[in-house]
Amino acid sequence: MDSIDLYRQLLGLAEPWTVQRVEMDIPRLRVDVHLGHAPGARFACPACGCEFSVYDHAAERSWRHLDSCQFQTVLHARAPRVSCPEHGVRQAELPWAEPGGRFTRLFEALAIDVLLATDVKKAATILGMTWDEAWHIMERAVLRGRRTKPSAMPSMIGVDEKAIAKGHRYMTLVCDLEQATVEYIGQDRKQASLEAYFEAFEPEARQALQAISLDMWPPYINACRDKVPGADQKMVFDRFHIMRHVVDAVDTVRKREHKALLDTGDTTLTKSKYLWLYSAENVPEKSRERFNVLKNAQLKTARAWALKESLRELWNYSREGWARRFWQRWYFWATHSRLAPMIDAAKMIARHLPNVLTYFSHRISNAVAEGLNSKIATIQKRACGYRNAENFKIAVYFHCGGLDLWPHRWTHSKVG
Ligand SMILES: [Zn+2]
Repeated sequence: MDSIDLYRQLLGLAEPWTVQRVEMDIPRLRVDVHLGHAPGARFACPACGCEFSVYDHAAERSWRHLDSCQFQTVLHARAPRVSCPEHGVRQAELPWAEPGGRFTRLFEALAIDVLLATDVKKAATILGMTWDEAWHIMERAVLRGRRTKPSAMPSMIGVDEKAIAKGHRYMTLVCDLEQATVEYIGQDRKQASLEAYFEAFEPEARQALQAISLDMWPPYINACRDKVPGADQKMVFDRFHIMRHVVDAVDTVRKREHKALLDTGDTTLTKSKYLWLYSAENVPEKSRERFNVLKNAQLKTARAWALKESLRELWNYSREGWARRFWQRWYFWATHSRLAPMIDAAKMIARHLPNVLTYFSHRISNAVAEGLNSKIATIQKRACGYRNAENFKIAVYFHCGGLDLWPHRWTHSKVG
């Protein structure tokens, strides 16, 4: 078998395409494979599929292919053009590459696998290409995947805001809680940011949506009420967001008390910030002893902490009625605590109580997609390397979109 036959087989080329010439450049570790087609072959108009004889050929182009051993391998060909009476002079599709692509489909498929496994910079090094080239493959893969994704409304979604670029800009993310995929990313965290997601579906299609997990954020609440039929029965305020508000209140109590104590030279609360933010069972071993002393001391912060820890039980009830009775006791305790930040937090939750208690009908939270959140967090950390919000979107869709990213399989069928 000579090198022409070898490459014809390696490339899986079918009639009328064939390998015409193989040039090996040993010092540069490079193989150039020139492709051509049999004379008299007919090719299809890409618009209608009708076959015609060749009208002329486009200028020669090249495509990077999978390396042969360590030889960078580049395919060269002149694409045939056909003259269709209906669609004019068009370039026939080539079996090894997508229209406009600079890499063969097999190379893109490999590159996508590498990009999924690591960040763009490392992938570019492994693949022997520039950052921009690697990024472009990622971008094309997302566009391809979004184009072919079936557009059914998920039955349970989680809505979340994500800060990028050091907290100065926000994006709105909609996740499918069952598939653990990011379905949509919108600019900002406004009402319109979320409405745009719902508006992509016909009003009848939105009926399929059964439950929405979200934060107590008025623009999102308004978007759901305006666009989702029966939204008030479907919205569930995410328990982790609620607890975050309460944890923030505990921290405010601590800050104020610490300042007051320091004014009298008392350093009891110095360097205790994170101890109060942990859930009881997560306080690190090395700090347990100190924390046990602190939480039993006569401190406002200790009372706020006990309130926070107690509220976590709300979601453990199996019936809404029991949870409601627990809430009433907790609310009385919190509002009589004389701790202003805790009273504010309790009142905020009380204002939203109906959609806190819808939890007992749907039992959803944004944490269902736990793996998804940690993937997004990794992308957020790298986001400073992305030049803009658009790039953050591409990266999230690429890693978390549940998309079919790969080019269509290398076709061995007859072309034209
Ligand atoms: Zn045509």
